[in-house]
This record gives sequence, C-alpha cells and structure tokens, in this order.
Amino acid sequence: MRQPLVAGNWKMNGSTDSVTALVDGLKAGIGDVRTAEMAVCPPYVYIPRVAAELAGSAISIGAQDVSDQQAGAYTGEVAADMLTDIGCKYVIVGHSERRNLYGESDGFTATKFAAARKAGLVPILCVGELLEEREQGVTEQVVGRQLDAVIGLEGVGAFGSAVIAYEPVWAIGTGKTATPDQAQEVHAFIRGKLAVLDPAIAGKVQILYGGSMNPGNAAELLAMPDIDGGLIGGASLKPADFLAIGKAANA
Ligand code: PEP
Repeated sequence: MRQPLVAGNWKMNGSTDSVTALVDGLKAGIGDVRTAEMAVCPPYVYIPRVAAELAGSAISIGAQDVSDQQAGAYTGEVAADMLTDIGCKYVIVGHSERRNLYGESDGFTATKFAAARKAGLVPILCVGELLEEREQGVTEQVVGRQLDAVIGLEGVGAFGSAVIAYEPVWAIGTGKTATPDQAQEVHAFIRGKLAVLDPAIAGKVQILYGGSMNPGNAAELLAMPDIDGGLIGGASLKPADFLAIGKAANA
C-alpha cells in the first residue's frame, strides 16, 4: 500500500504576511488530514520561516528547485545540502516551468535529481507532455524520454527514494484537468516502464498527478489505482482547498 502524498508548489507567490496567513490556515486544519502525507514547497526565501512554523506538525517541507552543483562559484544557485540544512525533505525537479521557460533539458534535470539524492533529499521528478505532443500521440515517448534521462544517470533503483509527478503541461495552471482515465493511462505507463526494470521499485514508487487539481476533482483522480497523490499549484495557496485535497486522499 502506497501512502498518498499531497504536495503544494507555491511557485513564485507570497509575502511575509501572506505566507504567515497560509501557514496559520494549514496548522489550524491539518488535524483532519489523517492518511495522506502533506508537504509544502515555498519559495526559497520563505522556507526557514515556514519550516519553523510547521516544525512538529504533520506537514513536510520541500523546495521548488535545486542546483545541479554542490557548492562554490555558482551565483544565484541553491545547493541540495543547503536545503537539507534548512529542513527540507523534498525538492521538485524538472517542473515544466523550469523545462519550458528556462530551457532545462532532460539531462540537466537528471543531474539535479542526482544532486538532490546525494544530499538525502527526496526528489519529486516532474514529467509530462505539451498539448501539441498529446495531440501528436507522442505522450508516452515524451514521458519515457524524460524518465530515461534519470534512469540512465541514476538507475531505476533511485526511484526507491524518489517521487514522480505526472503533470501534463496543458493542464498546469489552465483549469483544464486530465480526466481520471487520461491520467491513469499515463500513470500506468510510468509504473509499467519501471516494472520492466524493477517490479519492486515500480510497486512502491508514489506517482502524483499535477495539473489544475482542486477540491472538486481531486477525489475522482485520487481514486485511480496508479494515482498516489497530487502536486498542487494554484489550490495550494488556499489552505482550505489544499487541506480538502489532502482529505480526499484519505479515502
Ligand atoms: C504545478 O505547477 O505543479 C501545478 C500542478 O499547478 P496547478 O495546480 O496550478 O495546475
């Protein structure tokens, strides 16, 4: 049985005041989320504040990105060891906004995944196709290629301590959600691909769905056999909505 994980990606949103209000809302309601693990990924600068506020709560902390390098003259970068140092458990790697807005390749994403694991972080590897790729019928090739870059560098065993998030790019921040069947089909493809290499790892790895998940659609997505939780963008900025998704994962 895989424990559900619901992780919030706050992206580049927030201020000291809004982050305080968000954390207060999460602390007030987290007691109702019993089964799922919840995690939040604030912008780097707010992580220490959020980690201090949520210390001892059932909510884990993650970051939204990490450097491929370990330390030194890399202006603007944040190393994986720094993230563990300030209390992070998770880090999102290869989010489509990193891949598509900042040109981060499959290979570069794989080096970030490796750096995260080396520091003891649990990477949440995002994979997913663009709308035109879905329309061309190449979703599995795209997702397979994104996974292969990581498997080639780190081996399938790396997914024993990593999470995968299937995030169709056309569903991110657009209000368009993949149907439960569309999402399940890709999740099953991902698990099946890993199973060819290592059935035990494939059976254990959590595969999250991300793309406009909200309290209204979470339950039917989370009911699918290979959907083990969610990576939540917009709805994670509203405590009631984020917690409602966590409760939907209780079922
Ligand atoms: C995301 O950015 O990972 C995401 C899933 O965003 P949203 O929930 O807003 O679509």
